[in-house]
Amino acid sequence: MYPAQFEYHKAGTVKEAVDLLAKYKDDAKLLAGGHSLLPAMKLRLAQPKHLIDIGKVAALAGIKEDGGTLVIGAMTTHYAIESSALLKSKCPLLPEVAGHIGDPMVRNMGTIGGSLAHADPAADWPAAAVALGAEMVAEGPKGKRTIKADDFFKGLLTTALAENEILTEIRVPAAAPNVKSAYAKFPHPASRFAVVGVAAVVTVDGGKISKASIGITGAGTKASRAKGVEAAITGKSADAASIQAAAEKAAEGVDVQADLQGSVEYKQHLLRVFAKRAMEAAAAKK
Ligand SMILES: Cc1cc2nc3c(=O)[nH]c(=O)nc-3n(C[C@H](O)[C@H](O)[C@H](O)COP(=O)(O)OP(=O)(O)OC[C@H]3O[C@@H](n4cnc5c(N)ncnc54)[C@H](O)[C@@H]3O)c2cc1C
Repeated sequence: MYPAQFEYHKAGTVKEAVDLLAKYKDDAKLLAGGHSLLPAMKLRLAQPKHLIDIGKVAALAGIKEDGGTLVIGAMTTHYAIESSALLKSKCPLLPEVAGHIGDPMVRNMGTIGGSLAHADPAADWPAAAVALGAEMVAEGPKGKRTIKADDFFKGLLTTALAENEILTEIRVPAAAPNVKSAYAKFPHPASRFAVVGVAAVVTVDGGKISKASIGITGAGTKASRAKGVEAAITGKSADAASIQAAAEKAAEGVDVQADLQGSVEYKQHLLRVFAKRAMEAAAAKK
């Protein structure tokens, strides 16, 4: 299958990309790793007249530490995150989640920024972003602004990014030694996308969970926090009974949607099972 005809533009800098977006407006789309956009174009679900390739914008790729914050450029590939020694030691949830995405080709081409901006309801990164309290940095004609992950995902394939803005970086706090995390995913057997995915970030003080942040993906139209679980586990022992009881609340307040992959009841059940697995795995980490 071939996409509809389009004009290709290669941006050298973020400013060039912002200027091209401002020039072509609704007719333009940014091209990152192409692993969501190009399939959509081939199916004619997207027919941009102008493609703005940001793949060679050096400032958009890479992982660094800035004080206690880890800064990941939007064009950083899933594989670069999966294999980052810095992230493995300071934010191990991100390499763990990256390893769950698609297959090696998808991980070598797809980018964290492309995935977050695309906001596929079954994508893995959004669960990690909300669980980690990530901040998204966007740049547009009026300059830069920061959007909290909780405010970033607005609905099906929709984010808080304006049409003329580029997601430039993702900022997450470096984890303190008593912050444990894990990702548990029920992958679709064909696509590997998440039927349900749960990212758990828990702070363990003297055997008790003093803080919990649970991000979920796959169940509804957008990633969200499982606030019922967070409230139920906070202040409790990190033991199997407390985790099981809290996980029972995984579907509370979540707008679970039925789709070709399962009914609402089935997905609610998966949420409870995978919330338990994610919290157990996080609490068991050294
Ligand atoms: C076979 C297959 C299996 C997959 N399995 C999984 C999986 O298991 N889990 C998972 O999470 N994902 C999966 N994916 C999706 C994959 O992770 C994509 O790489 C990702 O969703 C999009 O990233 P990209 O860099 O390819 O973005 P692109 O496809 O280039 O762009 C996606 C959209 O985001 C916009 N965009 C891109 N970058 C920016 C930016 N910096 N600022 C603003 N807008 C931007 C584009 O204009 C476009 O609308 C799979 C894909 C395939 C093809």
